[in-house]
Amino acid sequence: MDVQRKMMVAVLKQQGVKDGRVIEAMGKVRRHVYIPEALRGRDPYGDHPCPIGHGQTISQPFIVAYMTQRIEVKPGMRILEIGTGSGYQAAVLAELGAKVYSIEIIPELSDHARAVLAAEGYKTVEVKTGDGYKGWPEHALFDAVIVTCAPDKIPKELVKQLKDGGRMILPVGTGIQQLVILEKTGDTFREIPDMHVRFVPMVKGNDD
Ligand code: SAH
Repeated sequence: MDVQRKMMVAVLKQQGVKDGRVIEAMGKVRRHVYIPEALRGRDPYGDHPCPIGHGQTISQPFIVAYMTQRIEVKPGMRILEIGTGSGYQAAVLAELGAKVYSIEIIPELSDHARAVLAAEGYKTVEVKTGDGYKGWPEHALFDAVIVTCAPDKIPKELVKQLKDGGRMILPVGTGIQQLVILEKTGDTFREIPDMHVRFVPMVKGNDD
């Protein structure tokens, strides 16, 4: 799979991903192992999303690179991820030196991601099964929040758990969604609309 991964990195560069650290991290993380073995038929390193079971997908490499680049990950940053899925995005963030807290609502997926991340040696990722709308108050505040499923509006609780000067990136909307970057300063925040994307919806937990 090393050759395929090198090709993926070459494609990311062609697509305009400029951050050398992001490129390097994605050149290292073994994307295929995050995809359950039975579902690896579709080239795991190809320029498309891949199914990971339970009706969910791992994002296309470009989207992972783009979102990672936009949150400007620095070593030691504390990042909250909503939608662990396969664990791949969390691994890329950890590879960049972040401490990652990741929440996944489907227990089978969080168990799988936790096991793969441990087997791959990532010690700075914590995965919990739960409803992302609540965030992870015990570990707040976060330097950044990355949401990889689409709510219909920006979840207020997640903005609360972002520290002053922190940044959140998330797809918002139903049907056609828009990537939004939110920058928090004190009690106010600025929303910067970005490109159109297609993520799975962020589902409401049933204990609200
Ligand atoms: N970042 C993942 C891809 C995530 S796909 C990766 O790298 O593989 C989106 C994930 O969000 C799915 O696994 C879905 O189950 C999860 N999800 C949807 N609604 C959620 C919610 N309310 N809280 C937490 N996770 C949620």
